[in-house]
Amino acid sequence: MLKSPLVARIRNFFSVPVDNLDLLKAQYQAFSHQIPLMYLTLLVNTWALVSSFMGSAPLFLTVVCPLVATLAASLRIISWWQARKKEVTGALAAHALIRTTRLAWVIAAAFTLWSLALYPYGNAYQQGHLAFYMAISVIGCIFCLMHLKPAAFIVAGIVNLVFVIFFGLSANPIFVAISVNVALVTVVLLVILSIYYRDFTRLIEAKAHTEALSNENLHLANLDSLTDLPNRRKFFAVLHEAIAQTTTKGDVAVGIIDLDGFKTVNDLHGHATGDKLLTALAARLQTLQGDGVHIARLGGDEFALILQNYGSEDDLIRFGQQVCDLLHRPVSLPEATVRIGGSLGFATYPHMASNAEELFDRADYALYSGKRHQRGQAVLFSTIHEAAIHRDARIEQALNLADLENELSVVFQPIVHIKTRIPIAFEALARWESPLLGRVPPVEFIAVAERSGMIGLLTRQLLKKALATATQWPEGLRLSFNLSAHDLSSAEGVLRLIAIVKASDFDPKRLDFEITETAVMHDVNEVTEAINTLKALGCGISLDDFGTGFASLSQMHALPLTRIKIDRSFIVNIDQKPASYKIVKSLVTLCTDMGLGCVTEGVETEAEARVLLQLGCRTAQGYFYSKPLLAIEIDTYLAEIKTHPSSLLA
Ligand code: C2E
Ligand code: CA
Ligand code: CA
Repeated sequence: MLKSPLVARIRNFFSVPVDNLDLLKAQYQAFSHQIPLMYLTLLVNTWALVSSFMGSAPLFLTVVCPLVATLAASLRIISWWQARKKEVTGALAAHALIRTTRLAWVIAAAFTLWSLALYPYGNAYQQGHLAFYMAISVIGCIFCLMHLKPAAFIVAGIVNLVFVIFFGLSANPIFVAISVNVALVTVVLLVILSIYYRDFTRLIEAKAHTEALSNENLHLANLDSLTDLPNRRKFFAVLHEAIAQTTTKGDVAVGIIDLDGFKTVNDLHGHATGDKLLTALAARLQTLQGDGVHIARLGGDEFALILQNYGSEDDLIRFGQQVCDLLHRPVSLPEATVRIGGSLGFATYPHMASNAEELFDRADYALYSGKRHQRGQAVLFSTIHEAAIHRDARIEQALNLADLENELSVVFQPIVHIKTRIPIAFEALARWESPLLGRVPPVEFIAVAERSGMIGLLTRQLLKKALATATQWPEGLRLSFNLSAHDLSSAEGVLRLIAIVKASDFDPKRLDFEITETAVMHDVNEVTEAINTLKALGCGISLDDFGTGFASLSQMHALPLTRIKIDRSFIVNIDQKPASYKIVKSLVTLCTDMGLGCVTEGVETEAEARVLLQLGCRTAQGYFYSKPLLAIEIDTYLAEIKTHPSSLLA
């Protein structure tokens, strides 16, 4: 019982470390250089000794044995030499090292026996040479075997134990002294070898650990931790590679996907649900991954595609539409079943861009444009976008140089009672007359200002001007003012607007702020907070362009709104479009049920106005009533309405 752990330890000490593959491989690599050297040294030493004993010892010992040894050693040298070309695997290394360890017993025993067999045939010099041969050869072997401790110990143990006993017990005091020297040197050598071997083992282990760590880091650095999709960094690496392979693997298309309505889910159900939704959608996208199709998550709710050899532009759009449809299918989560969507912008290389960055930017622009005009669809970058990019750049430059105070102005479009045409409010609409570009439409410069971060400045300037005009109006008239998503995205921004309202002489209770669905979807919580702050001041809040965005009615219901403005797209030709008729009808009912005011936008004809009246709409806005007016035109307009009070429908 006591013996077995000791036996196991000894066995362990003399066996090859087969469970440590990295160590095995490193040992093998060191060995493939050292073993041929060891055999060569041994052979040269052996033949030198043979030359001393030639003629004195029998031919069996001086010719047959050395020749057999030479043949065997040469075969080993050749085998090791050839093995250098092979790829080192754990199995190969283990096999070679186990064989070397076994051979160590045989070779050490054979050389020792052969050497001692020569001893009786030699004179004092020859015997001296023999002792020197044994001692020096074993030192050489220990050095060559130092990367495989078991083999080194076996050789040292067998040869030197026999040496020390044999010469130590001889009656010759010189040999006794030599055996003491050899014993001492062997012990010291083995101690040093053990230390070296321990350090070598640790070094290999540390190297393996570092390699594993850096492999893991590399893996992590390229993967998105939530969805396990390649991340932004990997996306660009693959994109650069795909562009470099264009000649062999075909043209490259980049698609950028932005989810529509994700933020609302995140805000309403919490981040954990948002994460699950992203993971589920990522898994769906992953099903598209295949030959020449790469999917990545760029961050947030943005994903990207790289397509190699995508076929025609029509094929690309068809594929993109498939992606959008895939994203639009409902997702069942433990908390709720949610349905959102995704918009996709494509650009192609080399047709539309000259490098990876430009390709990405153009796909991004196509996405940006798609989100504004073709939500939930795949849009390919076009010459129209190209022109728009240039125009946007010029607008941005001109805006930066603009004297906003003088170049910006505000016009006012009346919001009227449909039946009486009497105005109840005016909506302030921005106008910009640039000395460089002339008159720039608000849809253009507002969008540029939003993207370049200048919108806050513009909004404040416009609000001051609008309030200054509205202060002149008769008591009953309200002012409606448009805000951008960015205006609501910081508490500080909202406070600055409030300060402007307070500094004016206009009663905040007569003021309505208009915000769009897209603004709300930016961040429901933040926007709700901003709305509450503005409402606390007494202002009303209108939801502008209702019906064009992605928000559901229940999401809108959660907001503290006072009025909804039904988008112009539902009003155009409503008298001839049963679908629009039904939509507006249900929206009007909904507003009544929810206790919200309702304004229909963009009424252009009497026929439209009649239908709206039938549907129970009370207030409207549009060219049929009046185009936006200059501040100085308002008095005349009001006077006109007063003098002709009943140009009414009925
Ligand atoms: P909006 O807020 O929906 O404003 C209504 C737009 O519809 C105005 O265009 C108005 O002139 C136009 N409109 C009114 N009635 C009719 C009609 O019967 N038919 C047609 N075809 N159009 C009609 P405008 O002034 O060009 O403004 C466009 C958009 O620019 C606005 O849409 C709003 O989103 C934005 N905008 C304008 N002024 C401001 C502003 O001061 N701040 C912000 N953030 N956005 C503004
Ligand atoms: Ca508006
Ligand atoms: Ca509108």
